[in-house]
Amino acid sequence: MSPPAARRSWAATVLTLHPEMFPGPLGASLSGDALARGVWSLEARNIREHGIGRHRAVDDTPAGGGPGMVLRCDVLAAALDAAIAPDDPRPRLLMSPRGAPLTQARVREFAAGPGAIVVCGRFEGIDERVIAGRGLAEISVGDYVLSGGEIAAMALLDACVRLLPGVMGKDASGAEESFEAGLLEYPHYTRPRQWEGRAIPEVLLSGDHAAIARWRRAEAERITQERRADLLPGVRAHRVREG
Ligand code: SAH
Repeated sequence: MSPPAARRSWAATVLTLHPEMFPGPLGASLSGDALARGVWSLEARNIREHGIGRHRAVDDTPAGGGPGMVLRCDVLAAALDAAIAPDDPRPRLLMSPRGAPLTQARVREFAAGPGAIVVCGRFEGIDERVIAGRGLAEISVGDYVLSGGEIAAMALLDACVRLLPGVMGKDASGAEESFEAGLLEYPHYTRPRQWEGRAIPEVLLSGDHAAIARWRRAEAERITQERRADLLPGVRAHRVREG
């Protein structure tokens, strides 16, 4: 049998004013092992290399006044143009609280592609013209404000990398997780059987796999209903497709 065609490794290019933050947590555990094995690659490029003048200035005061500083469009465009070829097929993402919320569906889509180019903002924000001029898609990791895009970029990259083939211990271990079926995950238990007066639910010890699957589905639905009822319309759509 011929070996499977070699898959080119998933390539992440990060543009940041703090390249020293990378790989950071991505260099440890699951993502770090995968990085060392070449399943994915990570290049962190310093936007400041394209700064203006002796001081390599990257920001300036906001047009129209107001607090903070704004990352210059010419500087970020130069950094992007130096980092990526015009025909680079990877999505160009800008981490931004105004962006489309990052979901497991988006993560799956990115993980299935060739990689990602991720721009990390700092300061008050980024000159709007470079977002349009370089076709950046804004992605948010939640409705709160971080001081910079680096931690958001790490969240995105970590979520993608764990889905790459061969990264998770068991190939199937992603399939039943939170969000994958539009539901939050059911509760987990392991030894000891009794702990501080709390027992493992009987059904999980019964060996009856159908009963266990039913219990897990019911628990996932209960927890989703209690905590994230907003997810449930997606569940109904999923069931219709199944039926
Ligand atoms: N003034 C901006 C916030 C700037 S925070 C506003 O009100 O929208 C500085 C940088 O941190 C942003 O440019 C972005 O890259 C990053 N950032 C902050 N919160 C984020 C979030 N929730 N998701 C993704 N990136 C975020």
